[in-house]
Amino acid sequence: MIGAIEAGGTKFVCAVGGSHHDIWAQEVIPTRMPDETLAACSRFFETCQIRYGVLSGLGIAAFGPIDLSRNTATYGTVLTTPKPGWQGANFVHHFSHQLGLRPVVDTDVNAAILAEVKAGAARGCKNAVYITVGTGVGVMVDGQLLHGLMHPEAGHVPVPRAAGDEKFHSECPFHSDCVEGMASGPAMASRWAMPASILPPDHMAWDMEAYYLAQLCRTLTLVYAPERIVMGGGVMNQKSLLPRIRRQLEKLLAGYVPVIPRAGGIDRYVVAPELGKISGLAGAFLLASGRY
Ligand code: ADP
Ligand code: ZN
Repeated sequence: MIGAIEAGGTKFVCAVGGSHHDIWAQEVIPTRMPDETLAACSRFFETCQIRYGVLSGLGIAAFGPIDLSRNTATYGTVLTTPKPGWQGANFVHHFSHQLGLRPVVDTDVNAAILAEVKAGAARGCKNAVYITVGTGVGVMVDGQLLHGLMHPEAGHVPVPRAAGDEKFHSECPFHSDCVEGMASGPAMASRWAMPASILPPDHMAWDMEAYYLAQLCRTLTLVYAPERIVMGGGVMNQKSLLPRIRRQLEKLLAGYVPVIPRAGGIDRYVVAPELGKISGLAGAFLLASGRY
């Protein structure tokens, strides 16, 4: 039996089972102060251990920012958060002490991506790229939770300007020409003077958006040669966007590298996520099982 927690700002979802496909018990605990919330989580796992047997691992997908340096005393500490009382709270200390089990912790975003890569839209791939287009543009490569000097920031790679977009002022405070500055949700809102969520599907905004995101796919294709690119995040809710990105990427690659035929066609190369809402908890199960 393994345990999983998706720790969010409004609720903690705790679950036990063999995997995210095989959940035996689950409880939703409202997020209050850390002592109260974490104690309620421990009680859930203790009850499950009486009923089902000993926990062999615990994975936590937590709101960030959080200290992820595995072999230090501060691993699992909540860093500068506006959530009252939570700054300095430590998941690893709490559960090591209460359950006698050292949890594996990562951010909710990394856990969700891990789940899509290992058990969702990119399962079976040894080498996949995950792009989220939301408030920012996030990228994960190679199915790994890469932490180097810091985490890679491929959302800030430069992109050539689209025709007609020369005067737009990038939304990124650091770069006048990066994907995040040109194509994040806030960039769309400022360019078109309305939120991305209400731009109609036939608006010219979507072809321009597809152009920038296809440029990012092109760079990642050339640098990493992934087997698949999964694209999620709030902006991808506009369903006309994914087919537009596919068309533009085919144009941009111009047949130079044979990735699209090898991937089984563009529709199998650039794909939507599969797990959606359950990806955070599924990621926590994967962290607990050591499958990452
Ligand atoms: P975050 O990056 O904060 O996790 P999301 O991935 O949810 O956030 O993305 C938020 C962005 O997605 C906002 O800019 C919002 O305008 C945009 N968005 C939300 N729903 C839609 C939609 N249906 N169509 C296009 N854009 C959307
Ligand atoms: Zn930038």
